[in-house]
Amino acid sequence: MTRFKWRYSSELKKLFTRYRARWSYAKIWFRRLITEFDSDTCLEPMFWFVDNYTHLLGPFFIFAVSGLTIAVVVIAYWIGLPFWWEKSPKATVFLLIIGNWLLLNVIFHYVMGVITPPGEPPQISDGSFEVRKICKKCHLPKAPRTHHCSICKKCVLKMDHHCPWLNNCVGFFNHRYFFLYMAYTTLGCLFLIIFGFELGYKHIWLDHGDSWIESEPLEGQPVKFNLSGHIIPVTHAHEYDDDLLLPAKHALPTPPTSDDGTYTMGRRRAIIFMATTNVTAVLALGALTIWHAKLITHGETSIEALINQEETERLLKENKIYVNPYNFGARKNWKLFLGLVRGRTFWRSVLLPSWHKPEGNGLTFHTVHDERVYLSTDEWP
Ligand SMILES: [Zn+2]
Ligand SMILES: [Zn+2]
Repeated sequence: MTRFKWRYSSELKKLFTRYRARWSYAKIWFRRLITEFDSDTCLEPMFWFVDNYTHLLGPFFIFAVSGLTIAVVVIAYWIGLPFWWEKSPKATVFLLIIGNWLLLNVIFHYVMGVITPPGEPPQISDGSFEVRKICKKCHLPKAPRTHHCSICKKCVLKMDHHCPWLNNCVGFFNHRYFFLYMAYTTLGCLFLIIFGFELGYKHIWLDHGDSWIESEPLEGQPVKFNLSGHIIPVTHAHEYDDDLLLPAKHALPTPPTSDDGTYTMGRRRAIIFMATTNVTAVLALGALTIWHAKLITHGETSIEALINQEETERLLKENKIYVNPYNFGARKNWKLFLGLVRGRTFWRSVLLPSWHKPEGNGLTFHTVHDERVYLSTDEWP
């Protein structure tokens, strides 16, 4: 009992100290805000919130990604599959194979991105890697390309960024999973947009839904189109073209009709949801995939892109040219990133899910300054 009481009071004390520290920090921040109003001070609480609470939001993000993926797949099977089956069973089989191959890759790379730790440096340096610095936050030796993540509160090997959607840092061991997840999701959404376009066009554009009711039937009333394309009644006798005018035939697409002649609101909403989700995903993830592909082509991570940019500008002032030590040329950079060495093929290791680990240990890296004999071979390190 005494022990419990002691523990209870010590926990309470810790909590009190923590909140007192936060309160003093808030007061200092507020004073700074009113004396030296600048963007850094304004954004400070936001950074603090991101650093301290992003990991709590992580499970929510994973839940959101999983929920959206399941919803999109269910709607594709519920509405898309019968639509295509009616058009062509052969085409449907082909689309099922392509669609499920994309889905398999999306799920595999997402799950692997979430569950694969990005890699941490060892607690002590045994001399097997070059220690660039000692981390100011976790006091561990920092290997080249290692950076500290303020959300995970630890150093991460070849850190790219902290991804809230994966609730994980993207680093040495899971970078490939992260990139291929984005690439396959963009392709998957593009696939649904392309092969769902006709369906969406017919249901949303041509069909006005149940709410659209013809208020005054035009039956029996002679009508004509005015110059702005509206239907207006014919009022003058000479405008009649008597019986010679046959009912117009056209080849315009018509709204779909089901057996009972109606389409439920749920179906319309599902299609609108599909269109919105897939177009948004393609725009956002597509842009991100292209940006990361550019970084991979240059042999740099997101963090290194910023550092390299600064270094390039700094050296340019001294009339020098900065060389990224990890840029071996586009082809080699991609081969290294995708792990297409030691006989691995694009067909097996990229087009199909593959568990292979990246080359090396994430602590030491080849650079362009290494001996040419190393750089010319495909076997790394
Ligand atoms: Zn650290
Ligand atoms: Zn992190």
